Amino acid sequence: PSSRSDKEKRSGDRIYKEACDVIAGGVSRNTVFRRPHPYYAASASGCYVTDIEGVSRIDFANNMASLIHGHAHPEINKAVTEQLQRGTAYTMATTPEIAFAQLLNKRIPSFEKIRFVNSGTEAVMTLIKAARAYTGREKIAKAEGAYHGSYDYAEVSQTSNPSNWGDPDQPNSVPVANATPQSVLDNVVVYPYNDLERTLAILDNHAGDIACVLVDPVPHRVGLFPGTQKFIAGLYDWTRENGALLAFDEVVTLRVNYGGAQADYPDKPDLTATGKIIGGGFPVGAVAGRSDVMRVLDPRESRLLFPHSGTFSANPVTMTAGYAAMSLFDEKAVERINDLAGMAVGQINEAVSVADVPVSVTGAGSMFRIHLKESSPESYREAYQPAEETALIKELLDYLYMQEQIMMINTCTCMLSTAITEDEIVRLSEAMLNGFRHIKP
Ligand code: PMP
Repeated sequence: PSSRSDKEKRSGDRIYKEACDVIAGGVSRNTVFRRPHPYYAASASGCYVTDIEGVSRIDFANNMASLIHGHAHPEINKAVTEQLQRGTAYTMATTPEIAFAQLLNKRIPSFEKIRFVNSGTEAVMTLIKAARAYTGREKIAKAEGAYHGSYDYAEVSQTSNPSNWGDPDQPNSVPVANATPQSVLDNVVVYPYNDLERTLAILDNHAGDIACVLVDPVPHRVGLFPGTQKFIAGLYDWTRENGALLAFDEVVTLRVNYGGAQADYPDKPDLTATGKIIGGGFPVGAVAGRSDVMRVLDPRESRLLFPHSGTFSANPVTMTAGYAAMSLFDEKAVERINDLAGMAVGQINEAVSVADVPVSVTGAGSMFRIHLKESSPESYREAYQPAEETALIKELLDYLYMQEQIMMINTCTCMLSTAITEDEIVRLSEAMLNGFRHIKP
């Protein structure tokens, strides 16, 4: 393995130099940036990705959780190839978008009407604008540390850390980028995830001004643990009492159950933003929810409240791929990968005991995240990784990638695809045991 990684380093260095000449920072998304250079993929099939040196690795990242069936699934490829022959985009509506809307709206009870867009970021942005248009209010509430894409309102507090997060009773609206307008910060109310008492007190301070409470039911960057029944019910009740909308970000979590993570809660969101797996491997997003709220997007309304468009919205290639992918992701498939994730978590916890390391695992459905913390974090502030911990996570991930041919999301998170089998889970847990021993001081 050492000669292979040396060789890869050489060619990776060379390619990265070329990339830096033409692309800002050499990458088109910071999530694939790493030092000394990004990894470069050549091809992929099922749950294996092959790099430019010909080394294959088990893929537990699946393009940031978006490939629910892994790579190059034959049925999705067939459907897409047929659509390609008919053209890729028209200045017309298409029937594949209607078929796909029927499929999703039937599957998820809170989806009465839907609109397709091109990314999760755009879905969250469209949701927030729809909530504002419907309520006539400017503010939104979001969880401290939660990632909702790169719309400036949704980005607030995404990088909250001990130097800027402030009083837990009133977390700061921390800007992510330089020169984020003060008006954006003033219009985003930040609440502590799963802390209902504090959250309600914070929301009450802005009652009457909040258009929607945005909540991810299993927020990855907060710590990848589910919203408690009490917390989600409390947010639901507060929004009913205060004329606000309950908005779920299910860009990642739609995979958790057949009906999305929202199927775990009795109260349904008014609006949901989703994306990732519904694109069948192509860029996608969608906002869906109550018919009366979604009317703000309806061009037949006499007073158009929110003129929504997008050159590639509901692109027929994406709609065709998404239809095939979500049809294949039936109840049995969901149950199967959730069971595999349960098996993986069980085996990793055993490896933690054997290696005797302070590690905990959180997650839901087919997703789990490894924390270098003795007990499972239950809040963003508990899950927060100081720099030393981030460095150790990187060392673990590099070891898994180079020595064990395993690839994960850079928070040490796995998002399974249906291409995974028990064999790969066993490989993962053996590799984790070696990895824990490798990083153990
Ligand atoms: N919301 C959540 C919860 C996400 O994890 C992401 C992407 N990781 C987004 C929104 C944004 O989606 P996209 O990257 O497709 O813009």
